[in-house]
Amino acid sequence: MPEKLKKYKAKRDFERTPEPAGNKKKKSHKEPIFVVHKHAARSLHYDLRLEIDGVLASWAVPKGFSMDPREKHLAVETEDHPYEYAQFEGIIPAGEYGGGTVMVWDMGTYKNLKIKDGKEMSMAACVKAGRVEVLLEGTKLKGGFALVRMHTGDPKHWLLIKERDAHAREGQRRWRQSSALTGRTMAQIKREGGTYE
Ligand code: MN
Repeated sequence: MPEKLKKYKAKRDFERTPEPAGNKKKKSHKEPIFVVHKHAARSLHYDLRLEIDGVLASWAVPKGFSMDPREKHLAVETEDHPYEYAQFEGIIPAGEYGGGTVMVWDMGTYKNLKIKDGKEMSMAACVKAGRVEVLLEGTKLKGGFALVRMHTGDPKHWLLIKERDAHAREGQRRWRQSSALTGRTMAQIKREGGTYE
């Protein structure tokens, strides 16, 4: 079992939840992937997941995404998820960890923007240093985003900030609220179930 997924596995009973157990080997892609899950658990939030070294490093973002560089949204670091979780959309049973409806709100590839001394810093090093900068190429999210670990309080608390670029927009924006994977709404997913049942 990959050491990285220990926390993920410890929190879940795979006899009860349709979420992937994380035993598959990841296929190799040229570009690393990202996914954003919209997750109607006890409280609605979005989960940003970035492929780093074969697993999905994850942050829960209660307020979701803004394209306005003046807004800083709290992003709480959570446990690494298996690579195949990127294709998970469906229902985590009530009473199980994270119980509720899960939508693949956005998906795509990303580029690491963090350069140090003329060289690309590894994503793992960026996470360790508390500063991640990525260019997202999704169906909804595009352009540069920064994740910055907060200096005070809980070390799992980060801020998610849109970088100033051609995709940045000031003011509120309304997002298309259907799945990037299946085109379904949250209500449809709740009715029909998921990709892993
Ligand atoms: Mn979640």
